[in-house]
Amino acid sequence: MSVIAFVGLGNMGLPMAVNLVKAGHRVAGFDASQVAVAAAAEAGVDTVETAEAAVDGADVVITMLPSGAIVKSVYDSVLPKAKPGTLFIDSSTIAVGDAREINTQATEAGMLQIDAPVSGGVKGATAGTLAFMVGGEEQAVAAAAPILEPMAGKVVPCGDSGNGQAAKLCNNMILAVQQIAVGEAFVLAEKLGLTPQALYDVVTGATGNCWALHTNCPVPGPVPTAPSGNEFRPGFATALMNKDLTLAMDAVTQTGSSAPLGSAAAKLYSDFAADNAHLDFSAIIQTLR
Ligand code: NAD
Repeated sequence: MSVIAFVGLGNMGLPMAVNLVKAGHRVAGFDASQVAVAAAAEAGVDTVETAEAAVDGADVVITMLPSGAIVKSVYDSVLPKAKPGTLFIDSSTIAVGDAREINTQATEAGMLQIDAPVSGGVKGATAGTLAFMVGGEEQAVAAAAPILEPMAGKVVPCGDSGNGQAAKLCNNMILAVQQIAVGEAFVLAEKLGLTPQALYDVVTGATGNCWALHTNCPVPGPVPTAPSGNEFRPGFATALMNKDLTLAMDAVTQTGSSAPLGSAAAKLYSDFAADNAHLDFSAIIQTLR
């Protein structure tokens, strides 16, 4: 049993914290929103009034926050309160550079620290089946394994600090391109007189198959559980895809990489997010029509 401070009890953080409580850990949860704190208390998480109070006496500090700037400000305020050797796990999706910055800050303060962003969405957070992509020193990664276990379907060590975030950005850049490509194919098929079901049946058994099609099919019908059959309620919201692509494009620029398809996807999602941030990202098919 560990004493865990959990900062950021939103859509993802709350179900993750609940799974840690169910696994027998003592969790002190904090969120800046009173509504989130009330929901956490209702769900059986012990809540406290400040991030500093959550960290007081904790063995582990988990952050699940909206942005790098917020994670950095939380680290600034809680690091002086943590006991030496505390394990810090940041599961927020943030820039690789920000992840490396807080790693340096935490290790210089005598802490263990990893970046551990996730894939799997609210469904995976609730079911305890998230995929964790982990970057950091070996000792910190090993110490994190039993803590991540109740929240995880799998944990993939990716190397040094920041590499978990790098893996997350690369995965979501692939996903965005695939979701657009699948949408383009359905629109073309419609214009050629091919039914969505026929296209779905062919491609799911052929070389074009991918998650964006077999699970997140952007036309209603072939996959009853896909957001397309539920007025594009997310799922994975366009706002979050847009955020991840913005981070990916920053990384492309900083590294001087060539990503013509990723860049085009980022532009399409940025335009689409202006009015449709709340829709599942598979709704991008609407702009292609
Ligand atoms: P969310 O907005 O639902 O939750 C974030 C929470 O952080 C909110 O409750 C907010 O009040 C709280 N918060 C903000 N500033 C704070 C501060 N200074 N101190 C304490 N709490 C603060 O977001 P989410 O969907 O839970 O996502 C969290 C992170 O996980 C993001 O980085 C997101 O990109 C990533 N992520 C989300 C999903 C998803 O499907 N929702 C999937 C993978 C990764």
